[in-house]
This record gives sequence, C-alpha cells and structure tokens, in this order.
Amino acid sequence: MKIYRVLFGLLLLMISFDAYSVLRIVTTTQDLAAFAEAVGGERVKVQSLTQGTRDPHFAAAKPSMIRKVFRADLLLVIGADMEIGWLPPLLQSARNARVQPGNPGYLDLSNSIALLGKSSGPVTRAMGDVHAKGNPHYWLDPANGIRMAQAIAARLGELDPSHKDEYQKRFNTFAQTMDKKLQSWQASLAHLKHKPFIAYHTSFVYLADAFGFLIVDEVEPKPGIAPSAASLSALVSRIDNNEIGLLIIEPYYERRSSRYLNEKTGIRVVVLPQSVGARPDINSYIDLFDAIVAALNDTGGK
Ligand SMILES: [Zn+2]
Repeated sequence: MKIYRVLFGLLLLMISFDAYSVLRIVTTTQDLAAFAEAVGGERVKVQSLTQGTRDPHFAAAKPSMIRKVFRADLLLVIGADMEIGWLPPLLQSARNARVQPGNPGYLDLSNSIALLGKSSGPVTRAMGDVHAKGNPHYWLDPANGIRMAQAIAARLGELDPSHKDEYQKRFNTFAQTMDKKLQSWQASLAHLKHKPFIAYHTSFVYLADAFGFLIVDEVEPKPGIAPSAASLSALVSRIDNNEIGLLIIEPYYERRSSRYLNEKTGIRVVVLPQSVGARPDINSYIDLFDAIVAALNDTGGK
C-alpha cells in the first residue's frame, strides 16, 4: 500500500507543479492567442475559443469551449460587444470565478484602445446589429496590436509576479520587431495613400487608418445587415461616380454581392485575411500583416 501512497503523492505533486508553473490562457480569438503566446512564451498554455476562419461576431457555444473556460486562469476578450452573442452564456455555464468580468483573470483588451465609430448619442438598433459600442475590429491596426500585447504582458506580470520581467522582456522584443516590420509594411503600401476603397463590413477602418487609404462605403448598409438589391444598385453608381477601384472583403462573407458589383462596375475584389488563422499559413500577428500587405499589393494598387 505504501508504494501506492508514494505514487499518489508524486501524482499530486506533478498536477500541482503543472497548475502553478503554467498559466492557462483562453482567448476568444486567435489574434489574442497569438499575442498571449508572443509575450507568455513557455510560461503559458494558450487556447482560442474560435478559429480565425470564422466571423468572430458569431460562435456556437460547445461543451469543449465551456471546459476550456472552466480551467482558465486568464480569459482574454476583444470586448466592445464583439462576443456579446456567445460569451456571456459560456461564462455562466463554466462557473469559473477567476475569469468573471471584474476579476484579475478577465482582461477586456478594448479598454486599452481608443475605439473608432463610437456613438455620442443613444445606441439604437437602427445603427446596425453588431457595432453599437464602437468598432471592435481594432486589432487590424498594428499600433493597437502593440498596445494589446503590452496590456497582456502587464496582466501576466500581475498574475505571475515572479516572472514579471520575463513577460516585459518578451513584450519589448515583440514591440521592436513590430516597429521594424511596420516601417516595411508602410513603405510597401505607400502607393495606396488617399485611395478610396469600399469594404464589405466595417472591419478595415483601423487598417485604413494605419496605412492611409480611405474606406468610403460598405457593401453592408449597416454593420451586420446584409445588402439588398436597392442598396447594391446605389453602390454601383457610387463606385462609378467616385472611381472606386477596390473592394476588400473577409474570407467568410458571401461573395454574390461582390461578384455582382465586379460585373457591373469592374471593381476589383480582394479577399483580405482579417485574423491570425484566417489561412493555414497565417500563424502569428506578423504573418497576418505580411499576408494583408501581399494581398493588397496583388491588386497592383488600383
Ligand atoms: Zn464587425
């Protein structure tokens, strides 16, 4: 019996060692997971609840997601209502006090960002379905990416103070790499400055801000509202009159409307990856912008 007791003791030790040596981070998107991995290194185990191939406004809560949230030490969310349709019931079912809003294990990254598209007046359904608290697609500005990684490094340092310097050091390396890359991305997209584009959804306003092009309209008449025949024909005249040469769209939206606009006006349609994981070759935040820059340059800048 003694040997069993020793083995049991060893097992407990291994479990507790695992529990205290690695922070279990759960993220709502793969972009957040990429930041957590960049600043957490081998001190963290990161799992994303959704895949970058899907529209992050919508997700179906699955038992496997509840299990992940149940075990998490830290939950990272985009916030600004991005996950409003699916995260609250998941948090309730997971019954994990560590990661409830207001506790140190819950980090809403939208609090580190100056959001675009914030309404000063009352929020109504007439503004569309999904952006009532401001535009939540803020990770598509590389400067915001640095802010997000910084906020995550700071929180990791609070949850795991003995490795605080390590998280800060990894963040510094990430920020330095980003600064260098940003210069080359900006040089590579300089020819798009002040060019008018349209987007399917209002996802790319932060990207446009970062690189100096303009998004003058969207295919969706309101965020989250599908286009109608009337709204599409109004767009046809707008594209013709303003010589808008490019329509950018995320991989997960329907293509019928953009095909129609292309047939009627000749506008070029570029499918732009919007998240880490949107394509199998996009595994980091730097990969994401490399892919975005390459896709935009594929158009010849028209
Ligand atoms: Zn959106």
